[in-house]
Amino acid sequence: MSTLLEKAAARPRALAQSELAALLAWPDAKELFAAAYEVKSREVGRAVSFRGLIECGNVCEKNCLYCGIRKGNSKVHRYRMDAGEILREAEWAFKAGYGSLVLQSGEMTGEAHTAFIEDVLKRIHAFGGEAFGVTLSLGEQTEATYRRWRDAGAHRYLLRIETSNPELYARLHPADHSWSRRLECLRALRGCGYQVGSGVMAGLPGQTLDDLAADIMFFAEEDVDMIGMGPYIPHADTPLGHGVPWTPQAAAERLELGLRMIAATRLHLHDVNIAAATALQALDPEGREKGLLAGANVIMPNVTDVAYRADYQLYAGKPCLNENSTLCRGCLERRIAAIGETVNWNVRGDSPHWRKR
Ligand code: SAH
Ligand code: SF4
Repeated sequence: MSTLLEKAAARPRALAQSELAALLAWPDAKELFAAAYEVKSREVGRAVSFRGLIECGNVCEKNCLYCGIRKGNSKVHRYRMDAGEILREAEWAFKAGYGSLVLQSGEMTGEAHTAFIEDVLKRIHAFGGEAFGVTLSLGEQTEATYRRWRDAGAHRYLLRIETSNPELYARLHPADHSWSRRLECLRALRGCGYQVGSGVMAGLPGQTLDDLAADIMFFAEEDVDMIGMGPYIPHADTPLGHGVPWTPQAAAERLELGLRMIAATRLHLHDVNIAAATALQALDPEGREKGLLAGANVIMPNVTDVAYRADYQLYAGKPCLNENSTLCRGCLERRIAAIGETVNWNVRGDSPHWRKR
C-alpha cells in the first residue's frame, strides 16, 4: 500500500486538504476502495445498519435549484402523509427489525407542522422506546423546534450542508437561501443533543476536487457523527438539471466520484457512520453494495408506501418505485450477504464516533 493510504489508515484525521484531494484523484480506484474497506472493517465492522426511510411529504417551502420537489416545480403532485400513515410505516420498519427510522420531507415550518411532528415522534417512541433510533431530515428549523422534537424522542438529525463552499452554495440556491443559516442549524442541533449528520452532493456543476476535499475537512471540523452524501443527479424539471445530457458514461462517472468520496471520508474520519445513498443505486443497480465496499456502513431502505414514491423524486432515475417494502427487505438482505456482510438487525446502530464522545 502506498504511504499516503497507510498514513490515512493508521490514524484518524491525519490528512491535509491537499492529501484528501490526492486520495479523491487516486489513480487506482480499486486500491483506494480496498484501503477504505479495511479501515471500515476495523473501526465499524462488516455489518450494515438499516434506517427505514419514510418520505412523509413533498411539500417544500424552499427552491433549491437542483431538487425535483422544489417549490417552483409545478409538475409535482404534492402530498403530505397523515399521522396514521407515518405510524403504520414506522411500525412496519420496527417489526421488520430495521432498528431505526428516518423521517424525511420537504422543508415546512410553523407551529402546526412542529406540533404534528412532535405528536408523531411521541407515538413512535411509545412503541419503539429508546432502542428504536429515530432520525429526522426535515430541513432548517428554529432551535426551539429542534429541541421540542429531540424531547419528543428523535435521536439524530441529518442536515446536509450540500457543499462546504459558500460561493458554490450561493450559485445553487436562490438569494434568500443561506449557507450560514444552514451551518447555524447544524450547530444548534449539536447543542440540542442530537447525533448530527451532514453531507454534500458530489459532482455539482462548478465543483472541484478541492471543494470535495474541503467538504471532508468540514465534516472533521464540525465533528459530525454521521455522513449522508451522494452523487448529484440532474433532474430535468429543475433550473440546474434542465437540458443536461444524460449518458451511461455520465452515470458511471458520477457513481465513481460518489464512491471515491465515501472512501476518502472513511479514510479520514474512521469511526463515523457513512450511508450508501440511494442516489448511488439510481446510477447503478449495485450502487449501494459498491458504496458498502468503498467504506459505507448504513443503508436507508425505502419503507414509504409505493403510492407516494413516484411523487418524491429529488433526482432522476429513483429506484424501487414499484417495489413494496417487504420485497425491498428480502432483496437487500440477499445483496448484502452476497458481498459477505451481515445486517445489524434490531439495533439502533449509533456511530462509534458518537459513542466515544
Ligand atoms: N428538505 C430536507 C430533506 C429532503 S432533501 C433538506 O433539504 O434537508 C434531502 C437531500 O436530497 C438534500 O439535502 C440534497 O442533498 C438531496 N438532493 C436534492 N436534489 C438532489 C439531486 N438532484 N441529486 C442528488 N441529491 C439531491
Ligand atoms: Fe426542499 Fe430539501 Fe429539495 Fe431544498 S433539497 S427544495 S429544502 S426538499
